[in-house]
Amino acid sequence: MTIIEPAVLHALTNANQILCISHINPDGDAVGSLLGMGWLLRHMGKQPTLALQDAVPHEHQVLPAAATIITAQAANYRSDVQERAFDLVISLDGSSPDRMGNAYNSAVHGQAPLLVIDHHITNTFFGDINWVAPECAATCQMLAYLADALQVPLTGELAECLLTGLVTDTLCFRTSNTTPAVLEVAQRLMQGGASLVDITQRTLNRQPFAMIKLWSLILPTIQLEDGVIWAAADQPVFAQAGLPVGDTGLSSYLVTADEAAMSAVFVQKQEPAGSTSVECSFRAKPRYNVAQLALSLGGGGHPAASGCTLAGTLAEVVPHVVGLMKTARREQDRQLSYAQ
Ligand code: 5GP
Ligand code: MN
Repeated sequence: MTIIEPAVLHALTNANQILCISHINPDGDAVGSLLGMGWLLRHMGKQPTLALQDAVPHEHQVLPAAATIITAQAANYRSDVQERAFDLVISLDGSSPDRMGNAYNSAVHGQAPLLVIDHHITNTFFGDINWVAPECAATCQMLAYLADALQVPLTGELAECLLTGLVTDTLCFRTSNTTPAVLEVAQRLMQGGASLVDITQRTLNRQPFAMIKLWSLILPTIQLEDGVIWAAADQPVFAQAGLPVGDTGLSSYLVTADEAAMSAVFVQKQEPAGSTSVECSFRAKPRYNVAQLALSLGGGGHPAASGCTLAGTLAEVVPHVVGLMKTARREQDRQLSYAQ
């Protein structure tokens, strides 16, 4: 059980105009915790505004009230999110201010206290009130404890949203941060009516054929050296697969190689200003850690899953980052051998 500071409960109880936001390129924990917070606040008699810079991924659009999330594509994004004054802003599942994207407008929203609720070890405590619980496997797990503190039952829509984040962030209870407490929360959410099989089928156990096609185009680039496995993709492979440039989900697969301690997938993106950037997605086997690596490169994440975005091309970024990964892997092996 995680301690909830009285300041968190106080902020929620006293605010009425509440904006809830989560991170750019939202995943299951981002959408699940955003919607979960919406259900919690409505239970308290409030009518929060839920917003995201980027679109809700297709597989999460069926979550209860997902259609109420205002994203940058919506005509009322400026008036009802970016230019509207609130008396509390809640950032969910974001480890640093840049993760909020343009859903947070400091000129307007800076007038209100910012409540940060997050489980990343790399959190920079950028809020006025920070509830950061790295012992939790998902922000959705934290919200289950918040529901307990607010005496809101873990049932119905709330349970479905929270179990979605717990399932997706733990890869269905397979990551090393899947503690008995995680399973206990999952059990309570299932007892409250959330379907584990439906959520797993909708999220982890499916993808469009185009994604498998994309993997077939990226996998020929794999390399393995010194316990580090990596692959790289530029815009043309996404176009060839018929997908927008984005997450590939491949780094979790690459790290399953017996010979690898860490994996990376590098995706080159075109920036609006004409320059290029490279999104790096890292994974580590249990006992290895890629959180500090990502943090040192301006990103963040968890010991077993992290990421960052760097300016430059694949030719510039990949050798540099792979070099850092090899050094980190060697250093961590040395520490692990001391520990034995
Ligand atoms: P993924 O590889 O699934 O995109 O991301 C894995 C983890 O790294 C997630 O917890 C995500 O929050 C974090 N992460 C990925 N990219 C970035 C980034 O650019 N900045 C920060 N701060 N965290 C990131
Ligand atoms: Mn999360």
